[in-house]
Amino acid sequence: MSNEATEEDDVEVIVIALDDDGNEIVEDEEAHFTKDSDGVIDLTFDDLSRRRMEYDNNDRFAIYKLMAHFREGIVREGRVFCAGAGALGNEVLKNLALLGVGEVWFCDFDDIDTSNLAKSVLFRPRHIGRAKVDVAAEVLSDMSPDTKWVPLSADIRYEIGLGVFRRMDVMMSVVDSIDARVGFNRICAALGKPWLDAGIGELSWRVSCWDSDGGPCYECTMDKTMRQRQHLPYAPTCAPLAEAIREMNRQPTSPLAAAMSGAMMAQEALKLLHQNKMEEPPEQLEMPNGHQFYFGGGAPYLEVQTRRQLEGCPGHDHWGPVHEETDFTAEGTTLRELLQKGAELLGVDIKKVAIPLGYDFIYELYCHRCKTRSERYTPRRVRNLDLSCPACDNEEARPEYKRALRVFEKFVDEPLAKMGFPKLQIFQVHGGGKRIAIELTGDEKEVMGG
Ligand SMILES: [Zn+2]
Ligand SMILES: [Zn+2]
Repeated sequence: MSNEATEEDDVEVIVIALDDDGNEIVEDEEAHFTKDSDGVIDLTFDDLSRRRMEYDNNDRFAIYKLMAHFREGIVREGRVFCAGAGALGNEVLKNLALLGVGEVWFCDFDDIDTSNLAKSVLFRPRHIGRAKVDVAAEVLSDMSPDTKWVPLSADIRYEIGLGVFRRMDVMMSVVDSIDARVGFNRICAALGKPWLDAGIGELSWRVSCWDSDGGPCYECTMDKTMRQRQHLPYAPTCAPLAEAIREMNRQPTSPLAAAMSGAMMAQEALKLLHQNKMEEPPEQLEMPNGHQFYFGGGAPYLEVQTRRQLEGCPGHDHWGPVHEETDFTAEGTTLRELLQKGAELLGVDIKKVAIPLGYDFIYELYCHRCKTRSERYTPRRVRNLDLSCPACDNEEARPEYKRALRVFEKFVDEPLAKMGFPKLQIFQVHGGGKRIAIELTGDEKEVMGG
């Protein structure tokens, strides 16, 4: 409530706060707030030593440097992965560009259609028909030329080495499907990384922060209905994101919900980045792991849901330390060499080791029409699965597949790349009741760049 003084020369505005009984609440500013040298009350952090007051108009990021926790070096060197470049992905990526994050990897399969223009901040009518990731990379490079943008039209389950995710400071998923979230959850659990998740509705949105290491994970929130809706098979690595992204396009969403949740996602990403890289991160940057923030736009209201870890939840399988094999590459290392290394590290005979894949791995096609067998190495994926016989025009030859690889495979002396494994992949080798994660670290330079 405010009153205006009536004196002509000196109009003064007085703001009075009243309590429930109508009594004035006297705020003792000196006692409650810290002022900076300009007399501005610091409502965020008390510790003025964290705050720098220089402001350079020629410095693009000058405004961020005034933020108590912002460390330019940390943000410039930060590596972020964002699964999805739809309406919400657009918002998140746009924010990361404005913030000037050092390196952003992102993936999506879809092309831009007219309906995308209503909700995607990065796309224009002239972009219709082009791949979302390509256009996004162009526009984002224009916004933030110093950021390294890495657009990927790849399935994170099969086509991106786990070593890529292992090198990310922040993992984010903005793909609206239960399958995709379960898949992302498994990847992050395997690598022991926290991750951020968001979903949007018509008026509502939800942002969640998960760290399956010692806390609840996304799968801890799944009830029977969600498990049923998660109809596609998933694996310790990930679920088919492509299908998930398509699903998202069919759900009622608004660019407004995307903007709000995309902003919170980027802010949490910025916090997580500092959390990971600061020696003594201020307590205000603490990540709300295990919490889901739900914004209901009808009333509107914001609700914080605290989740509990479910006993026996399968989403907490941490692979432990990764053995970096610097001589191993996808193209230069055979399956036998990988199994041999695993056997050596586990101290067991090579015949006792196996690499469980967590998905159906097709290695051969049998054509009932021309009665021929042919080599075909591919995951039995939902999208773009080619089962055509190379010898005739039969497009549906019968696939033979395995779920684990051992030294007895007839293709054991082929290089891993021939089997479709991506560069910088991490394999989990089991044997003698133990297991070890081995990375094709020889691919690091090529994949991650200098
Ligand atoms: Zn869980
Ligand atoms: Zn055939």
